[in-house]
Amino acid sequence: MLFRQIFDRTSSTYTYLLASRPGGEALIIDPVKEHLQQYLRLITELDLKLVQAIDTHTHADHITALGDLRDAVQCTTIMGERTHAHCVSRHVREGERLDIDGVRLQAVYTPGHTDESFSFVLEPDKPRAVFTGDVLLIRGSGRTDFQGGDPHRSWDSIVNKLFTLPDDTLVYPAHDYKGMTASSIGEEKHWNPRLAGKTEAEYVALMRGLNLPNPALMDIAVPANLACGQATLTARDDVVRHG
Ligand code: FE
Repeated sequence: MLFRQIFDRTSSTYTYLLASRPGGEALIIDPVKEHLQQYLRLITELDLKLVQAIDTHTHADHITALGDLRDAVQCTTIMGERTHAHCVSRHVREGERLDIDGVRLQAVYTPGHTDESFSFVLEPDKPRAVFTGDVLLIRGSGRTDFQGGDPHRSWDSIVNKLFTLPDDTLVYPAHDYKGMTASSIGEEKHWNPRLAGKTEAEYVALMRGLNLPNPALMDIAVPANLACGQATLTARDDVVRHG
């Protein structure tokens, strides 16, 4: 397995590039627009053919590279079926599998951080890793106070869906703000301070009390990401443009 974790320092976003072998097909998860040239260079150096670009959800803190990657290498752009980004070419449903040469992901609907967030399980028949977007972070969880976020749904997605994966499944989130690069389901069950030993009511109260400021880029990033990162259009404009 060829696996690269690429960090965006501005937004603390992790992007993941996966392929089964040099020379084979590749997919990328949560790419950041500013790193387009870096991704294209790496794909060329590793002799990969990028066939799928996936966003776990509509990001509010950075602009996606989905549209630029599609234009550069003609890859399929993918998000969950509930996204309002009508520019993507494929919408995945709960349980659907994404197959490229030697790599399989399974889509899991995990709302809570947003109402359209999906996670992706690597090798679902024998789970090795899960890409959780922002719903489950390392020793944390994604805020639930905008974009259809809901702390009850976040709890349900984490506890009743992600925590049913084997304990040794590696956890790769879309962000980390403390320099951690990976965790595991077992670790998060035991050590995540928002979840371990907590009731749903305690979790909901904690999430409702966070009072975080909005991300600096939110008013730019959300409309841009509804157009796959290529324009600061509203969703309605995007429908017109692509319809
Ligand atoms: Fe997010």
